[in-house]
Amino acid sequence: METHFPSYPLAELHAHLSTSIHSSVYWQIAQSQGFKLPKRDYHEFIKHITLSQTRTMELNTYFSEIYHPLLDKLSSGTYAVEKATYEIMSGAYRNNITLLELRNNPMKHNQGGAVDLDHVIMAMLRGMERALLEYNKLSAGIIFCLAREFTYEQNEIIVEKAVKYHRRGVVGIDIAGPGTPTFHSKDYQSLMKRAKQAGLQITVHSGETKDADDMWDVLEFLEPQRIGHGIRAAYDKALMQEIVKRGVILEVCPLSNLVTKAVENIDEIKFILKTFKENKVKFCINTDWPEIIEDGHLWRQFKLLRDENILTEEDLKHCNQTALESTFVPPGGLSAYL
Ligand SMILES: [Zn+2]
Repeated sequence: METHFPSYPLAELHAHLSTSIHSSVYWQIAQSQGFKLPKRDYHEFIKHITLSQTRTMELNTYFSEIYHPLLDKLSSGTYAVEKATYEIMSGAYRNNITLLELRNNPMKHNQGGAVDLDHVIMAMLRGMERALLEYNKLSAGIIFCLAREFTYEQNEIIVEKAVKYHRRGVVGIDIAGPGTPTFHSKDYQSLMKRAKQAGLQITVHSGETKDADDMWDVLEFLEPQRIGHGIRAAYDKALMQEIVKRGVILEVCPLSNLVTKAVENIDEIKFILKTFKENKVKFCINTDWPEIIEDGHLWRQFKLLRDENILTEEDLKHCNQTALESTFVPPGGLSAYL
């Protein structure tokens, strides 16, 4: 099979567990556990869960219709979590990725509380260890996502688990999910400080869609090293200056923004990345949903950005270098956690 991998290995810092599982792996998980699926034919199932440049869906619609009722459910429990983590990480290496940060909210993978959280986390770590053992040039780590829709107490438990398993490969904390009336970054200031003191690093989903525009609060109260997406900053000069001043890196996920209608079209992506370059905002390129988006693998997204004249080969190399320099993962593959 002909591929167009860049001549250098890639680093992926922003990919979610549920949206990084290959359809065939989802299918195996479902069949082996007897899950009833909304589509009984494999190809129909793929069509149902996949978004593309011609099948777009608003983020919240995808979440409520496909992500939560189907993907989260299928990728729940120890068997699914271990298999998924192993398959995602080994598959990433076979697609030219040598550094992978994989994120998930462990409380969304414990079958609604039916499975003990430590068992779910250990399953994830076993999957990662096996991939790291088999592919010895791969480095990887796991980020735990808190949820804006969760209570503070639930999120605090996730942080405590991240601290507990930090030495085993949980490298950072993220906050994900759409804005809610009850979530305020300010309330999480001391919890994030505690996480940092324990050696965890911080990234936060923000500035992805027009209604998730809390980047100023995120910077002030949570002081993350990186921000997931952050594309709305391109429309706020003062915000870009603040990002540069603080040395925060934006994890840009171009194709994800296109298929979930966070941007109008590819020209808007072009405008955003051009604006970031002009304002010296540092960013890296990521997939967010590598298996749910058609042609969503990282090397394919590099190719798309180059083919559409959005970034040059030199820009892309620079983005990859930015990712390598801002990773939360310690060097050394498996030995980093032994
Ligand atoms: Zn994301």
